[in-house]
Amino acid sequence: MTPASPPRHDVDLMVLGTGLAGMAAAALALKRGLSVALAGTPGESLFASGLLDLLAVHPVAEGRIWNDPFAAVAALAADEPNHPYARVSRPEMEAAFASFVDFLAGIGLDYHGHDGKNAMIPTPVGTIKHTYRVPAGMWPADAGLRRAAPTLLVDFEGLKGFSAAQAAQTLGPVWPCLRHVRLPFPDGLPAPYPEPMALAMESPRVRESLAKALAPHLRGVEMVGFPAMLGIYRTRETLSALRELLGLPVFEIPTIPPAVTGLRLKAAFEEAMPRRGAATFFGKLALGVTARARGFTFTVGGSEPEAEVAARGAVLATGRFFGKGLVAHRKGVGEPLFGLPVVQPASRADWHGQSMFDPAGHGINRAGLATDVRFRPLGPDGEPAFETLYAVGSILAGHDWSRQKCGAGLAIVTAHAAVEDFAARK
Ligand SMILES: Cc1cc2nc3c(=O)[nH]c(=O)nc-3n(C[C@H](O)[C@H](O)[C@H](O)COP(=O)(O)OP(=O)(O)OC[C@H]3O[C@@H](n4cnc5c(N)ncnc54)[C@H](O)[C@@H]3O)c2cc1C
Repeated sequence: MTPASPPRHDVDLMVLGTGLAGMAAAALALKRGLSVALAGTPGESLFASGLLDLLAVHPVAEGRIWNDPFAAVAALAADEPNHPYARVSRPEMEAAFASFVDFLAGIGLDYHGHDGKNAMIPTPVGTIKHTYRVPAGMWPADAGLRRAAPTLLVDFEGLKGFSAAQAAQTLGPVWPCLRHVRLPFPDGLPAPYPEPMALAMESPRVRESLAKALAPHLRGVEMVGFPAMLGIYRTRETLSALRELLGLPVFEIPTIPPAVTGLRLKAAFEEAMPRRGAATFFGKLALGVTARARGFTFTVGGSEPEAEVAARGAVLATGRFFGKGLVAHRKGVGEPLFGLPVVQPASRADWHGQSMFDPAGHGINRAGLATDVRFRPLGPDGEPAFETLYAVGSILAGHDWSRQKCGAGLAIVTAHAAVEDFAARK
């Protein structure tokens, strides 16, 4: 008996990767009316703070912080013409963010921000993060910080990885009227981590007990800040119910990774994608690819092929070393799925500088795929390797997203450019 062949899907676009770049590509392609398949494991997005950075730091060696991300991008593009941002105009960047944020609102994740200006958000260690778009739950902190509003920071006995006292103390010089309180978790600690606490916060009973316990601490306070654990699946409802119970604006401070904020993105996205018609292979990978005259055929599965996807085009959003979009060998760095050439330091000795904390970063961080102006990866001859293959997000060459604070922006802006180019070819 011959084994049955795996089920086959025919789509316009195959998205490889379900990190932020893959999520953005799939979301924007669906909004464009394209049929989409996507495969991947959660990638780095599970660790994400939920903040969407465009650009906050340039040059990295000087650690210069910018309030205006577009002025920062213009300076970066002039200094680093190989940075992916140098290929995208400001109107395209604004359109990319507007479209993705609109998609997120449609799946229950509201975002806010200033026109042409970075927001300022406190971090769990009490520093200030400059970022472009902010989850609704964190947004009030920007206004609170700017006018130094008298604010109470709350944490819970037994919670690991977040200290309201430490945050209040470190933020003191820029936000002097901060007070802090540590409370027992209402109805008993479910476990000492944000995830089970965030789930418990979705219960009206837990919120009511919390509001009662907080009442004696609210005199003279204009806002209340919590670690980011006000719900996972019902964040909108949890935030507004708590705001109502306390009679004050409330906000969240991101916690250290892995964080509830990443889980929220993952959960909302995984629920929404199939509902919007995408063929989804969550937790699966593309195991192999065959290029056809007009497009590709992918085998998708865990360890064994479970489905075949024929697509007119593909978006490679497979990330860096953690996501497995790039693989390091003794002799160099490779791209495993298509075997594309990877731009990288000339020798392994040049991968890293002498000091681990070199403020200028390390050569290996800028390794990745070179592309044409529309993010089609180049083959060995310097021409696009395939007519309709795009590479987006952190797999690209020429950036250092973690030092430049441009991770989400890189994902969203390049995904948008790729999808727009592909849609125009239909
Ligand atoms: C700790 C941490 C905190 C962060 N905080 C912020 C922040 O505050 N602000 C901000 O803007 N950004 C932040 N980011 C960065 C942001 O999350 C990154 O930009 C993003 O994770 C990189 O996205 P990516 O989609 O390019 O890659 P990844 O997230 O690594 O995703 C790669 C994907 O490719 C998939 N894949 C690999 N091989 C295959 C294959 N053969 N077939 C199918 N799929 C495949 C993987 O399974 C995965 O789904 C943070 C990241 C981390 C790690």
